[in-house]
Amino acid sequence: MQPAGAGNRAWTWDTGQDMTALPLITEPTTRRRPPTPRHLADLDMAARREAVVALGEPAFRANQLSQHYFGRLLDPAADDAAGALTDIPAASRGRLAEALLPVLATPVRQQAADDGATHKTLWRLHDGALVESVAMGYPDRVTVCVSSQAGCGMGCPFCATGQGGLTRNLSTGEIVEQVVAAARLAAAGGLTGAPHRLSRVVFMGMGEPLANYARLVAAVRRITEPSPTGLGLSQRHVTVSTVGLVPAIRRLIEEEMNVTLAVSLHAPDDELRDELVPVNTRWKVAEVLDAAWDYASRTGRRVSIEYAMIRDVNDQPWRADLLGRLLSDRLAHVNLIPLNPTPGSRWDASPKPVEREFVRRLRAAGVPTTVRDTRGREIDGACGQLAAAEVGE
Ligand code: SAH
Ligand code: SF4
Repeated sequence: MQPAGAGNRAWTWDTGQDMTALPLITEPTTRRRPPTPRHLADLDMAARREAVVALGEPAFRANQLSQHYFGRLLDPAADDAAGALTDIPAASRGRLAEALLPVLATPVRQQAADDGATHKTLWRLHDGALVESVAMGYPDRVTVCVSSQAGCGMGCPFCATGQGGLTRNLSTGEIVEQVVAAARLAAAGGLTGAPHRLSRVVFMGMGEPLANYARLVAAVRRITEPSPTGLGLSQRHVTVSTVGLVPAIRRLIEEEMNVTLAVSLHAPDDELRDELVPVNTRWKVAEVLDAAWDYASRTGRRVSIEYAMIRDVNDQPWRADLLGRLLSDRLAHVNLIPLNPTPGSRWDASPKPVEREFVRRLRAAGVPTTVRDTRGREIDGACGQLAAAEVGE
């Protein structure tokens, strides 16, 4: 059957960018910003030791500070945070805290939903940049969805973050602090009905994680390294979601971190994907999937294919069948995300019967398929994807 749906799109979109020249590492183009203060989460343990020695302190203070941050989840923004460093001589506390535990993010707004099981936080960073994270509690686990960039330069037209462009990359410390903040919230019993321990991290907040590659990889290391170097989460409980930056996916394979990879496909054909995911003009569906299969075979981990269901745009039965053919017999599963319409957009989520038919066809092709939980929909406001951050089980 002809891909008739492709011609039915009642929308146009133009980023005005030369997509063939999209840089892999998107550097901010806005005014020069002051650098983010250094934080111990930016550094591996050897560099933390060097840093404390440079301050005239014994090297083991690096372990003590790390234990406070990653083990006891010390909040550098808490009143008298330095005073809590009780195993460090009083005269050194302030200096060490200032040098290695600066306040990186200040909550501007916190919203709860789902009877207190979901908490969204809007953070202001040291230079005024804003990012969001969402903590989601379930009976058996706590997941946090974090941002990797302020804004995003990838320009996907259905995504709220994409509309504002890229402000800047986050530092490793700024990424890690969102995770540690969620661990603190869980530890304090702040997520109704959920365990008091954070177990999962998904990079599905603002930004394209693989466009901030080095800081993302360092952040994943901090999240997964055992305490006190890091937070000690399991690698397979960390999901990195990407728009499909093929060289970066291949680099990630070489890191041997075994995190779960999610690929935001949203269309099985290049004609539509070129428009929904502009970076597709650089790396086509086939190339993205090739990289995904290499990732799957090298890590042994099933790749999650993300597909936002957009009414009359990408939800036709023939597209389900085409997607099914691309994915059958692969180490993959599909996560359908009901589109969360962005303010002013003409797009809508697919009707439930259409969604059900899409699921049926994928499953008939042998592709495991789930529809994502849309946590916190009522607090989602401006950030499209955050409401749909939880990877369906
Ligand atoms: N930049 C990365 C990760 C952040 S977006 C990526 O694109 O994969 C996380 C997920 O939310 C992606 O699958 C993205 O396509 C999806 N998303 C973005 N806007 C959305 C919206 N309005 N409704 C539903 N899902 C959306
Ligand atoms: Fe960026 Fe992901 Fe949004 Fe696309 S969907 S604009 S890559 S955050």
